Amino acid sequence: MPLSRLASLPRALLATLPTALEPGPRLPSGATLWVKRDDLTGLGVGGNKARKLEFLCGQAVDEGADCLVTVGAGQSNHCRMTAAAGARLGLETHLVLSGDAPATLLGNQALAHLFGAHLHFTGVPSSHWGALEIARESLTEELAADGLRPHSIPIGGSTAVGALGYVVAFVEIMQQCDALGFAPTAIVFTSSSGGTHAGLVAGRAVWRGFGHAVPDVLAIGVAKGVVMGLPDVAELAAESLALIGASGVERADVEIDTRWLGEDYAIPTAAGDDAIRWAAHRGGWVLDRTYSGKGFSGLLGNDADGRWGADDNVVFIHTGGLPAVFAPGGLPD
Ligand SMILES: *Cc1c(COP(=O)(O)O)cnc(C)c1O
Repeated sequence: MPLSRLASLPRALLATLPTALEPGPRLPSGATLWVKRDDLTGLGVGGNKARKLEFLCGQAVDEGADCLVTVGAGQSNHCRMTAAAGARLGLETHLVLSGDAPATLLGNQALAHLFGAHLHFTGVPSSHWGALEIARESLTEELAADGLRPHSIPIGGSTAVGALGYVVAFVEIMQQCDALGFAPTAIVFTSSSGGTHAGLVAGRAVWRGFGHAVPDVLAIGVAKGVVMGLPDVAELAAESLALIGASGVERADVEIDTRWLGEDYAIPTAAGDDAIRWAAHRGGWVLDRTYSGKGFSGLLGNDADGRWGADDNVVFIHTGGLPAVFAPGGLPD
């Protein structure tokens, strides 16, 4: 029942799905690595936000919105993909960004500009998410006062609606693993605004409700907010499930490994840089220093801790982040 409710919700078809689940090399413990290529969701060069935007934009179109507003760090992948979604759907898109306008737009900003979005630089530091959210709300009010009908999306698209995209992803992963003839031990991924995590936890609860065995869902936190427990992922997952008439999330379902953030969001770590090289050398995968590199360092770290062994299959969701690789300092030396 929950999956038919999910299928009946408004959804804009923006992502190229299903994404591939690729076999990787053995981890040092002997466990088998699998890489879920959510960096290849297609929308505006891809990444995890495409899945959330399918439901967020589905709602926007359903409600008759004529423009999109969202917010993020200067090199926000979410903002870049929202700009691409706006272009695809014919919706004017406004992005509230941290930092000052640079002399030259690079990486995600250059792409967002190319997709036709309006970039609003706030001068706010990237870790001050509260101030950025307030700026999004005031811009939304200004646009409404000008007679527009904005659909305003919080940071990372991490709402109950957005998280539904990762309920879909969880089921997709389980079906792919089943078709390949294995049951995954763990699904590991990078978490910053918590919506991906909430969706996976919700999807796992649905799957468990069907009587299936379920893997661990292990989030590697790369922003201070999620590392300190914000948003409350269990609550967000429960809200998401409520939208499809389901329940069953338990607090113990939420596991966030907070050891891989380093100094702060978007500040590279030595372990993250090593993980970027590991993935590049062994599979030609391109991870970035803000998200997937740190996330994968968490996967390698848990492997080194002895969490898995030769019989285990560990799925890493590659959440994207390619454009930041081409911004200054985007890759380790
Ligand atoms: C946004 C993002 C994440 C984290 O997803 P959340 O749902 O915000 O936690 C991970 N990796 C990349 C590349 C991202 O852009």
